[in-house]
Amino acid sequence: PRLSASDVVEAIKSRDIKFVDIQFTDVPGRLQHFTVPSDAVVDGGMTSGLSKVDGSSIRGFLDISESDAVAMPDPSTFAVVPWRSSAARMIADVYMGGSHRLERDPRHVAQSAEAYLKDALGYSWSFWGPEMEFFIFDGVNWWSSEWEAGYRIDSSEGSWRRDGQGYKIRYKEGYYPVEPQDTLANVRDDIALTLQETFNVDVEAHHHEVATGGQCEVDMVYDTLTRMADNVMTLKYVAKNVAAKHGKIATFMPKPLYGDNASGMHVHVSLWGEGSNPGSAYNAFYDQDDQYAEISQTGRYFIGGLLDHAPSLAAIVAPTTNSYKRLVPGYEAPVYLTWGKSNRSAAVRVPSYYRGAAYSAAKRVEFRVPDPSSNPYLTFAAMLLAGIDGVRRKMDPGDPVDENVYHMSPQRKRQLGIRSLPGSLHDSLEALKSDKEYLKPVFDGSLLDAIIENGERELLAVESRPHPYEFHLYFDA
Ligand code: GLN
Ligand code: MG
Ligand code: MG
Ligand code: MG
Repeated sequence: PRLSASDVVEAIKSRDIKFVDIQFTDVPGRLQHFTVPSDAVVDGGMTSGLSKVDGSSIRGFLDISESDAVAMPDPSTFAVVPWRSSAARMIADVYMGGSHRLERDPRHVAQSAEAYLKDALGYSWSFWGPEMEFFIFDGVNWWSSEWEAGYRIDSSEGSWRRDGQGYKIRYKEGYYPVEPQDTLANVRDDIALTLQETFNVDVEAHHHEVATGGQCEVDMVYDTLTRMADNVMTLKYVAKNVAAKHGKIATFMPKPLYGDNASGMHVHVSLWGEGSNPGSAYNAFYDQDDQYAEISQTGRYFIGGLLDHAPSLAAIVAPTTNSYKRLVPGYEAPVYLTWGKSNRSAAVRVPSYYRGAAYSAAKRVEFRVPDPSSNPYLTFAAMLLAGIDGVRRKMDPGDPVDENVYHMSPQRKRQLGIRSLPGSLHDSLEALKSDKEYLKPVFDGSLLDAIIENGERELLAVESRPHPYEFHLYFDA
């Protein structure tokens, strides 16, 4: 169960917990923490916060001149951390001192986006369900063999790797052989169990993913925006620590292996209104009369907003140089700005395989562009703002496309007016510079500047370094 502030004080005392870990997320999306003796939380920390954050040293937060920040723990995120001797954690909101929220705190952006939905469209809730994909590799030396192998193989044939490697899963054949080929089933059980039993995060399913031995997926039960972003941060924290306990290493980097599927973070979303009487909440994306996919006009406009803003959204939802090595044809990752029911080359999908009582409740839009290197608070908030803009401005997403766009001729693509996602972080940052008005109701201008500056710094850092593959191509020049 989720605790209140007084429950937290009670739990600390009754379980004799010595330390409390205060956690928050920086702008690039990494979980940060500091630890205080639990007395600090018991004696007023839940109401006056804990002032141990130098905001100027947290990426994307503050300028040197305004460095003192205060963390206000959210009791509903309390959990005893199983890999620490005697510490519980709470996720915190970051304040500038007094009652002034830090505009660039990603959790603040997420909370503001939820409030903005109500103001802008009158809907009370949005529900979010990300599909978390990631790799678990063997120990810290995995890359010397896997990564070099990636450069050697041709993507169409990975079978050489079976030689001498027992049941090692072939490239692109990880979906879904049982154990012993799936060597990670037990690690995923442990991840799911820790999420459920310790961190109050419900898991819907977990499985091996398409890529060679090591790609995993864990799907959580849907929740509201900020809570689900908290859950994504918790899932990464748990997956990395449980993998470490098994002597392995988990990574949410989107494309660690050339020639094989990458890790995405498809995000499912629906908007809900309260209805006219208690108990009559309704899914604004469902329309039983729609012949194509039972998707409402509101849902179509929401899709229109996602597709229209996709190039600038990409800078937030696919924010790393590595993200664009995922967004290429042939690996079930989206490349084209189309929508449809089951087409995996498209950026947006409307899943339509639900039947029965939960049919209308399950109607949702799946945005396939995000990957797990993104900051979930910013990703969900930016998606919501793009969708709201689509609904307000009645953006028509065009006709659905159910062909595999990977295989479409350039002429046919032109004929249908199909646009592509940006091919690089450079291009998505340029798109963000010229298309950010729709984000402004919730994203502070200085936060957008920080996102753009950080992206440009990383881009330069990667592009100015000699690449290993350049040695393969050019060393004999
Ligand atoms: N890994 C794929 C991606 O990058 C998705 C695979 C799937 O779940 N169908 O988006
Ligand atoms: Mg899935
Ligand atoms: Mg998947
Ligand atoms: Mg999916």
